[in-house]
Amino acid sequence: MPKRRVPVAQINIVVMTAIVYYLYFGIAFNGASLLPRSGSDWSGFFAAVVPSGTAFLVCVGWFAFQAALERLLPARIVQGTPLPDGSRLSYRINGALAMAVSLGAVLLGYRAGRLPLAWLHAQFGALLSAATIFSFSLALFLWWWGIHRPGGPSKRSGSFVREYFYGTALNPRTPPVTGFDWKFFCECRPGLIGWLVLDFGMAAAQYQQYGEVSLAMWAVIVLQVVYVANNFWNEALLLQTIDIQQERFGWMLVFGDLVLVPMTYCLQAFYLIDHFRDASPLWVGGVVAFNGVGYAIFVGANRQKHRFKRDPDNCRIWGKPAESLETQRGTRLLVSGYWGLARHMNYLGDWMIALSWGLLTGFGSFIPYFYPAWFALLLLTRERRDDRWCSQKYGADWGRYKARVRWRIIPGVY
Ligand code: NDP
Repeated sequence: MPKRRVPVAQINIVVMTAIVYYLYFGIAFNGASLLPRSGSDWSGFFAAVVPSGTAFLVCVGWFAFQAALERLLPARIVQGTPLPDGSRLSYRINGALAMAVSLGAVLLGYRAGRLPLAWLHAQFGALLSAATIFSFSLALFLWWWGIHRPGGPSKRSGSFVREYFYGTALNPRTPPVTGFDWKFFCECRPGLIGWLVLDFGMAAAQYQQYGEVSLAMWAVIVLQVVYVANNFWNEALLLQTIDIQQERFGWMLVFGDLVLVPMTYCLQAFYLIDHFRDASPLWVGGVVAFNGVGYAIFVGANRQKHRFKRDPDNCRIWGKPAESLETQRGTRLLVSGYWGLARHMNYLGDWMIALSWGLLTGFGSFIPYFYPAWFALLLLTRERRDDRWCSQKYGADWGRYKARVRWRIIPGVY
């Protein structure tokens, strides 16, 4: 009897969408509790998630504004990593400037009384539905474009849902090759900068309701702005990530970038609106220090690999010449610094940062911890996937590397 394939794509689409909506229900209509309880306001929730014309305008306008900044602001042109056919694509790197212009414009508009930022909190449900419909539609366009655009390899699986979910093209661009890069743009711009604007909206809502912005709210916002700014500061490094190099651009990344990231990463700020006395200054200070350690690991590990890849012969790590393993593939694998302690310590640092944002909210609700919990799962599966890819790429050399660097993510533990 033929084996029935588990409908992974279908399950993921339903589950991921449901999770995002449920978290909103939990935080706004269920007293920040995860499990439904007697006072749950389901009817309020269903009324709130009806998308409005204004919410659509805001979503589409924001996307278009970010696209205009990407096209029009001065940019550094950087070559991507080689594609399977050996060619390279050029990318416009101007995310840091786009972030500064966007946040500056938003804050100026708020100060001038033109942008009622607290609206983002009040209309969060309508925005969530508008962004969801937008991302489902964009993924449909990308599926079609991946198949019909002239040139470039498209992956066909014969199943519409699988193609829709995983995408058909690796680097869909309009026009092809030289034009607007949908994946690189969506991976960074509208979602990441939009997340910070949503954070600002939560702070504005707190200010509107209580006449102050709490220390924990400031800390969450500052740490998240620093995280996103660091991302854009190192924007060219994103070209080396698995998403850009290996993943086709379909629903999975589109929904992640445009809905899941902005609408769930702002949940700590959302929670803090009404729980601003939970965290003492001492606690906030301790959590910021913990975040700093995570940062040092995250940025340090990524930089070490990047410096090594750029110039393996002259790279020094922690004061000593970098140690590496030669591979049949012609490239070398770094085995000193963070990369000698575990194979993915960059994931550990990134996760500590995510956890610190949750810790700033105290322990009153699981919902602000959704991001670190989900991120842990994502990083664990990502590490396994990268391990599989690397064993295919490097063959026996990967085995030698694993024998030398035993731990996957946390030295001595995992
Ligand atoms: P990595 O940056 O760890 O890249 C993995 C690749 O690096 C491998 O495929 C391999 O590719 C190369 N590599 C692995 N080990 C070595 C070594 N010892 N020496 C030299 N090269 C090596 O993975 P990601 O792209 O997943 O992550 C990049 C960053 O993005 C991470 O810091 C991660 O935490 C972050 N991230 C953040 C997410 C978020 O939502 N906030 C989501 C996912 C990632 P090759 O040899 O072909 O170069």
